[in-house]
Amino acid sequence: MDIKKNYINGQWQAALSGATRSITNPGNGEVIGIVADSNADDSRLAIAAAKNAFYGKGEWRRMNGPKRAEMLLAIADKIRARADELALLDMLDNGKPLREARADVDDAAACFRYYAGLVCQPQGGVYEVSDGFGPMHSYSMHEPVGVCALITPWNYPLLMATWKLAPSLAAGNCVVFKPSEVTPLSAVELFRIFDEVGLPAGTANLVLGTGPQAGHELALSHDVDMITFTGSTRTGQIIASAAVGNLKKVGLELGGKSPNVIFADADLEGAVEWAMIGVFFNQGEVCSAGSRILVEESLKDKFVARLAERANAMTIGYGLNNPDMGAIVSSTQLEKVLGHIERAKQQGATLVCGGERYTEGECAKGYFVRPTIFDNCTKEMDIVREEVFGPVVAVQTFRTEAEAVAMANDTPYGLAGAVFTSDGARALRVMKEIRAGVTWINCYNPTFNEAPWGGYKMSGYGRDLGVNGLQEYQQVKQVNINLKPGVVGWYENKAND
Ligand code: NAD
Repeated sequence: MDIKKNYINGQWQAALSGATRSITNPGNGEVIGIVADSNADDSRLAIAAAKNAFYGKGEWRRMNGPKRAEMLLAIADKIRARADELALLDMLDNGKPLREARADVDDAAACFRYYAGLVCQPQGGVYEVSDGFGPMHSYSMHEPVGVCALITPWNYPLLMATWKLAPSLAAGNCVVFKPSEVTPLSAVELFRIFDEVGLPAGTANLVLGTGPQAGHELALSHDVDMITFTGSTRTGQIIASAAVGNLKKVGLELGGKSPNVIFADADLEGAVEWAMIGVFFNQGEVCSAGSRILVEESLKDKFVARLAERANAMTIGYGLNNPDMGAIVSSTQLEKVLGHIERAKQQGATLVCGGERYTEGECAKGYFVRPTIFDNCTKEMDIVREEVFGPVVAVQTFRTEAEAVAMANDTPYGLAGAVFTSDGARALRVMKEIRAGVTWINCYNPTFNEAPWGGYKMSGYGRDLGVNGLQEYQQVKQVNINLKPGVVGWYENKAND
């Protein structure tokens, strides 16, 4: 098996220490790759390459928007041309069903295309100004931030990489990217594509390794101007405090415990299906997962019975065979999910379905969990308070709209939330009251390159995607031009006063 290397200053390089780590297929426990296991020295090398590319050579930042867009479009084309291969890699690495991995690849290509288009749009603004000094003209321009460090988790390996790489590169930054140590394989191929399209050396650098060993230096380094991170709230806190040394700009996309509020007048079948997409899609390893279902008391029994019927009918299996649900990403995450399930049982939640590891047939060697529903949950229970990041949902009931809103907001997180009702006015009222950065009405989880994505409260700050996603990686410069050069006579006037 060839060793996947770091990509620094346009060269593929082993970790300086020579260390490697093996990557496992969570569907069957087999080793599918060996990758460089970098440490802070490798990160420093990558930062130096990005710094030289940005501040020294300056080729990428000086390239105009349309020219950079051409490169991004070439990247999108190559992603599309290799879509089947990239999808297979993410499936093998992450455990998700192949068709979901394939959808991620299509989204990734579309994301590069979206930012290629956006960077050709007018940037900045022109201001009408007047001043005691005489006629002036003022405009603002958007410039890249500089050296950006990007760190991503394992749940959407290629897509999370793209959400950060496409806008940061579109804006003209030079970057160091560290994917999750659990799922780095598609990132290596993405950087092969960067190499093929001819990104200038040092513009995009890849460091493979763990967070504490390789990632932490990216947050600490005074040569990094910005760090954007997607991952757990705990790691986000560590990164934000490590970043204060040089006051680098910080963007955090963190965890969630998102409420899915279902009123009795909702379309039952629709609400059940979207609730399943909300919490079982991608094995429930979704930051925005609707892991708290708040359902109006009069509908609860019917709703839970139908949800359980549908959940029990889900196929679970090896990603290649396109089951409804694939494997949990790692043995560590499997233990974590099973631990949450055990605690919920101990704390008195009623197990409706699932609640255990799934080991039938082809799943015997992999890390699979049956879709799990807990009923009669109360606000003190860990299953209501803590992010599980697996196919587990906690059901609670409410009687009034005000109670539903209070329960929805009773969490330190604020990433997402949804409301299901046939009353349009109520849908908008409740949506406005939910303190979360992403909300849905009568659906759950659709996400678009065009629309900003990010959290309130302890789900982080900053935005991925949309125009805001590009602006995260830009800083604004104000330019003021004197339209009547020459002496203005300011001091002379003062003297004559
Ligand atoms: P994690 O926080 O353990 O790791 C995420 C990344 O951070 C990995 O690349 C890891 O190597 C790195 N890291 C860990 N410690 C670090 C440190 N001290 N310094 C620098 N880097 C460090 O998260 P995970 O288990 O990979 O992913 C699951 C979490 O990600 C969940 O909490 C989920 O909600 C969150 N997530 C959020 C979003 C969003 O958009 N808000 C999207 C996907 C996942």
